[in-house]
Amino acid sequence: MKVQGACHCGDIHFEAEVDPAKVNLCNCTDCQVLTGSGFRVSVTVPSDTFQLNSGLPSIYIKTGDSGTQRAHAFCPRCGTPVYACAVTENPPSYTLRVGTLKQRAELAPQTRTWCRSALDWAQDVRTVPGRPKE
Ligand SMILES: [Zn+2]
Ligand SMILES: [Zn+2]
Repeated sequence: MKVQGACHCGDIHFEAEVDPAKVNLCNCTDCQVLTGSGFRVSVTVPSDTFQLNSGLPSIYIKTGDSGTQRAHAFCPRCGTPVYACAVTENPPSYTLRVGTLKQRAELAPQTRTWCRSALDWAQDVRTVPGRPKE
């Protein structure tokens, strides 16, 4: 599936070719902190399908528990997380943040990771009283 992505302020625009079967929901505590939310939804694409069309992301190098480093790209103006990749000149893949994609409604998670650190309240919010708008 061809997708178009953008940060909130619109400085960063990108496109890629996504396999909807690869959409993952991550419950790890790093994703909770880095998103400021209950979990993160991402999809990894081969780097040859990824194209940055505008903007220059800032990079935060995250070191995981295993010592693995990942480059986390975000917009320096609005702070939107846009992707993560290996810390190397030519990363083999990019892990796109699904919330930035125009096609996000069609990209439901197919797998979940780090379920041992999942926030219980974030697993099913349908029972929480809601309103159609703010
Ligand atoms: Zn932005
Ligand atoms: Zn995670």
